[in-house]
Amino acid sequence: MRILVVEDEQKVAEALRAGLEAQQYEVSVARSGEEGFFLLTTATFDLVVLDLMLPGRDGLEVLRTVRRRRLTVPVLVLTARDAVEDRVLGLDSGADDYLVKPFAFPELLARIRALLRRGRAESSPRLALADLEMDVLTRQVTRGGTVLTLTSREFDLLAYLLRHQGPVVSREMLAEEVWQQPVRATPLDNVIDVQIARLRRKVDDPFPTPLIHTVRGVGFTLREVPP
Ligand code: CA
Repeated sequence: MRILVVEDEQKVAEALRAGLEAQQYEVSVARSGEEGFFLLTTATFDLVVLDLMLPGRDGLEVLRTVRRRRLTVPVLVLTARDAVEDRVLGLDSGADDYLVKPFAFPELLARIRALLRRGRAESSPRLALADLEMDVLTRQVTRGGTVLTLTSREFDLLAYLLRHQGPVVSREMLAEEVWQQPVRATPLDNVIDVQIARLRRKVDDPFPTPLIHTVRGVGFTLREVPP
């Protein structure tokens, strides 16, 4: 079970990591909202422990964006104080549960177990479009049953496109969320185009129906029927 901890305070983050790893969870720690959001869109987690008070993009903003993107991962929110508004806002923004700091670690574990039990039935580690399938846990990608060998960047890029299939994905979105470079730069646009071309050679060229489409002047879209 993979848990993402988004917490900027190092002591708290490390205590959470140590405590959760002792329970055999696989733990990743993000120290800012941006980093947390990036990990959430490029890797797969079974649960997120999200502190609301973060520098930069705060926890609520991360949560809202995650839900807007229809990521269904269970989120347990940590609030610094027992403020009713914080809890209501958190739950309204898509949190599954919350815990007020300071909390007892066994209580955190109990809440995590409950959320994981609830999530297991619903969440699927597979992404798919037509005959293209991706197992996000084993990182295996197949098309029509043929295994595709992708580099790690190609995998992340394809995972992002599969999670956002249908609407057009801009180069800005890819730069920000796959490359983690919020500032638009021409050299990065070229890198993105090269990576898309490489991905196409593996995902589309050997097969009769192309799935990755360029939308001139806007970006890319992953769909069965061309836009
Ligand atoms: Ca904090």
